[in-house]
Amino acid sequence: MDEIRIDLYSDTHTKPTAEMRRFMSNAEVGDEQQQADPTVNRLVQMVCELLGKEDAIYLPSGTMCNQIAWRVYCRAGDELIMDTTAHTRHFETGGPAALSGAMVFPLEGKRGIFSADQFKAAIRPENRHFPRSRAVLIEQTSNLGGGSIWPLETIREICAIARENGLACHMDGARLLNAVVASGVSAKEYASYFDSVWIDFSKGLGAPVGAALAGSKQFIDEAWRWKHQFGGAMRQAGIIAAGAVYALTHHVERLAEDHENARFLYEGLARIEGIEVDPPQTNMVFFDIAAFGISSERFAGLLAECGLSVSTIGATRVRAVTHLDVTRSHIEEALDIIRKVVAKIKR
Ligand SMILES: *Cc1c(COP(=O)(O)O)cnc(C)c1O
Repeated sequence: MDEIRIDLYSDTHTKPTAEMRRFMSNAEVGDEQQQADPTVNRLVQMVCELLGKEDAIYLPSGTMCNQIAWRVYCRAGDELIMDTTAHTRHFETGGPAALSGAMVFPLEGKRGIFSADQFKAAIRPENRHFPRSRAVLIEQTSNLGGGSIWPLETIREICAIARENGLACHMDGARLLNAVVASGVSAKEYASYFDSVWIDFSKGLGAPVGAALAGSKQFIDEAWRWKHQFGGAMRQAGIIAAGAVYALTHHVERLAEDHENARFLYEGLARIEGIEVDPPQTNMVFFDIAAFGISSERFAGLLAECGLSVSTIGATRVRAVTHLDVTRSHIEEALDIIRKVVAKIKR
């Protein structure tokens, strides 16, 4: 098998650039557990300003951001309302149940986005037979929804209903900054409706490690307890946090290039007979290859033999993600490979 030359598998595959590595190696560090790491403190300050929140906490992963939020909000037997496609429901090894005893109430949204009416109908009435509805989760952008963007109006309606009913509002903003760059709505505006919001530095922003969870001072004080208990308190974490500081400074606006590349990929795929492709809103392109009578796994295998890596999302669906390490000419080459593989399958 040839080596992978074009990696559209995920934006988690980005590698720190030479400049980022240089910046990281010069980072000032201290004991993060004692909040004495100047680089982590600087990052926390940047995140508070970006999201308009009182306080924030640096964590090893986005998964831990979600799990800490559930732990703060839920007691065993409580319920979390989210779209059926939510990352925390599928890819966090049952964390809500294992770590917080929480149940999930899944809603069937469109491209990962449910309506205010669906949400309202899911909230449990006060009755001791029912679990308590504790929090609503919005994933911005929706990963399994194909990088789709939650409209501000829907967010506003859902968070207002949540508030009326005493539920907390949590945003999984793993790719919030993709939504910000694509929509022109500021991160602060999106975040303003939520009690807790986090962003991931290790996706399209291109840092090697980490995420930050933001909220009120009281929320973050609680979050610190669980960070310790879950083993997420660190020591000289400034080394890795520096990658995030660098990413927030240099890699946000450039996300627009990833979105343009995704659009270019979409346009090329739309011209290939037999491929059904969804128009991308950010950096993800989902397409269906059912017409070729082979599985997405097999299709991805044929692409990999030609040096192109993609991921599969179900029996006949394929996902391609653009990011920092993908150029326009990579996309041109990716389209050439896909056309070649499709022609071969048709023969
Ligand atoms: C990647 C991702 C996570 C988990 O983040 P990690 O940093 O990989 O733990 C959570 N939610 C969404 C939507 C993601 O894409």
